Amino acid sequence: MVVTLRSSNVEKLGEQEFDVLIVGGGINGAVAAASLAGRGVRVALIDKGDFACGVSSSSSNLAWGGIKYMESLEFLLVNKLCQSRNKLMRAYPSTVKEIRFFTTIQKGFRFWPFFIFLGSVLYWVMGRFVTRPPRYVSARAIEAAEPVINTSQAAGGLEYSDCYLYDNDARFVFNFIRKSLNYGCIAANYVESIDARREDGRWITSARDVISGEQFEIRSKALVNACGPYVDAQNEVAAEQTEYHHLFSKGVHLIVDQITDNQRVLTFFASDGRLFFLIPMGPKTCIGTTDTQVSDPAVTVTDEDRDFVLENVNGLLDLDPPLTRASIIAERVGVRPLAIKGQGGVADWVQLSRKHVIEVDEDTQHLSIFGGKLTDCLNVGDEVAQWIARLGIPVPQADNTWYGEPGAELRDEFMLQAKLMDLDALTDPSSSEPLSERFWRRYGESAFGLLERIREDESCAELLIENAEYTRCEIELAARREMIVKLEDFMRRRSKIEQVVRREELVAAPGLREACDILFEGQAEERLAEYLGLEK
Ligand SMILES: Cc1cc2nc3c(=O)[nH]c(=O)nc-3n(C[C@H](O)[C@H](O)[C@H](O)COP(=O)(O)OP(=O)(O)OC[C@H]3O[C@@H](n4cnc5c(N)ncnc54)[C@H](O)[C@@H]3O)c2cc1C
Repeated sequence: MVVTLRSSNVEKLGEQEFDVLIVGGGINGAVAAASLAGRGVRVALIDKGDFACGVSSSSSNLAWGGIKYMESLEFLLVNKLCQSRNKLMRAYPSTVKEIRFFTTIQKGFRFWPFFIFLGSVLYWVMGRFVTRPPRYVSARAIEAAEPVINTSQAAGGLEYSDCYLYDNDARFVFNFIRKSLNYGCIAANYVESIDARREDGRWITSARDVISGEQFEIRSKALVNACGPYVDAQNEVAAEQTEYHHLFSKGVHLIVDQITDNQRVLTFFASDGRLFFLIPMGPKTCIGTTDTQVSDPAVTVTDEDRDFVLENVNGLLDLDPPLTRASIIAERVGVRPLAIKGQGGVADWVQLSRKHVIEVDEDTQHLSIFGGKLTDCLNVGDEVAQWIARLGIPVPQADNTWYGEPGAELRDEFMLQAKLMDLDALTDPSSSEPLSERFWRRYGESAFGLLERIREDESCAELLIENAEYTRCEIELAARREMIVKLEDFMRRRSKIEQVVRREELVAAPGLREACDILFEGQAEERLAEYLGLEK
C-alpha cells in the first residue's frame, strides 16, 4: 500500500493517546486544532467527510462585522465581530481583503437611505476606522456607477467597507488544518466518530475509516465536539447533556457569470426584507442568500430556492436577458447552526443571534462548540485553548501565536525571488492576478517550493484547466500536502474550480485527466469515474 499523509495519520490515530480529540473539521474544529497544536498540546482531529465539507464551504465568504445586527441593536455583538474582522485583516492581509459594499435602498423600505448611511458611519466607528469610510450615494450616482442596477425604484444608497475571503471559505479552513498538521496535529478526513464513552478518566471514541470501512478506537483526555449542525447528534452518542442546542436556518447561493466587472459587492434588501448580496467569486458572481427555518441539517437546493434568488436578482438588476435556471453554474447550500438555550423555538427567527457558545462539562473534560461565524474563528481557537488549560491539560507554549500569514520579511524575499525569475510573465492571460500574488496567498512559505519546481520545469506554471487558476505545480503540491482523497475534495474545497467552471467544460477539459494522474497516480481512473458518477 502507498503510504500517504492520510494513511499514516489514520494509523497513528489508533495507536497514540492524545490530550485532545476534536471531532469535526469545519472552521471551528480547524481553528481549535491549530490553536491547540500550535501551543504544544497533543491533538488529533477527525472529520466524517472531507475537511470543511459542511457549513464551512457554504457561507457567503464574508469576514464582516455583522452590520445587519445593528438593526436588532446588538451593538456588543457588532463591536466584537468588527474586532474579529480587524484581527483577521491584520493576520491574513492577502486572504481577508477589504471590499466595498455598494448598497441600493428601494423606495418604501423600512428605513430611509440616509438613516442607513448614518448607521454605516457608526459601524465604521465601531470598526475603529480601519477600512475606508462609508459614503452616501444618490440614486443617480448608483445608475452612473453601476448601470446594471435597476434604479427605477431606488431611493438612494450608500457604500461602505467590509471584507471577503479572496479564495473561498473551504480553502481558508484547510489552511488552518494544514497549519495544525505543521504543528504536529494528527488529522484525518473521512474518519467518522460513531460512539464515544468515558472510561477511567479518558475518552474512548469509536471511529470508522469511511474509505476502508475499518473501525478503531481513539483515546484522549478531553473531547471537543465541533460537529457544526451535528453537535447535538454527537453529544447524544457521547451521552453529554448540554444547556444549549442548535436550530437551523438554510441558506442558498447561486453562482452565475460575472454580473459586473467592478470588484465590489452589490448589496440590496431582498423581497423578504433581508440583506441580499452579489459577491465577486473569481471570474464569476455569487448571489444569495436565503434564510429558511429547517429541522434537518441535511439540505439541498430546491426550485423554490432557485426561483427566490433569480426573481430577486432579476427584479433588482436590469439584465438583458434576465437570469434563468440555465444561467446557474454552481450552487452552494448549508444550514447556519444557531445556538439557543433550551429546547424550544424562538419568536423572531431572522433576528436570532449568530454568537458562538462553548459549553464545557468540566467533570468529563468535554467541550461543545455551538453556532459561530467564520469571522470569529480566531477567538474560538483562543477560547478552546483557554478552556483546555483550565481543565488541567498542560499547554506548554501557551503564548505562541498560532495563526497568521508569514511575516513581511519572508513575503518580501518570496516576491524578490519571484521577480528575479520573472514568474509573473508566466501568468496565463485568463488569470485574475499575477502568479506571485496567488502563490503567496495560497501557500505562504510553501510557495518557495513552487518557484523551485518552475525553475526546474517551466511547464509547471501552465494552467491545467482553463479558467481554473490552478497550475500544474500547485496540483503536485496539493497531492503531497493537502490530503485529497476524492477528486471532489480538490475541485470543490481546496480549490473553487467546480464553482466557477461549468460542469460540461470541466468534463471536457483535457487537463482534468492529467490533474487526476498527478493527484491519484494509479487510482486516477477510479477517482475520475467516481467524480463523474460513472462508477460500475
Ligand atoms: C448560507 C450561509 C452563509 C454564511 N455566511 C457567512 C459569512 O459570510 N461569514 C461568516 O463569518 N459566517 C458565515 N456563515 C456561518 C459559518 O459558515 C458557520 O457558522 C461555520 O462555517 C460553522 O462551522 P462549523 O465548524 O461549526 O460547522 P461545519 O463547517 O459544518 O463543520 C462541522 C464538521 O463536522 C463534521 N462532522 C459531523 N458529524 C461528525 C461525526 N460524527 N464524526 C466526524 N465528523 C463529523 C462534518 O462533516 C463537518 O465537516 C454562513 C452560514 C451559512 C449557512
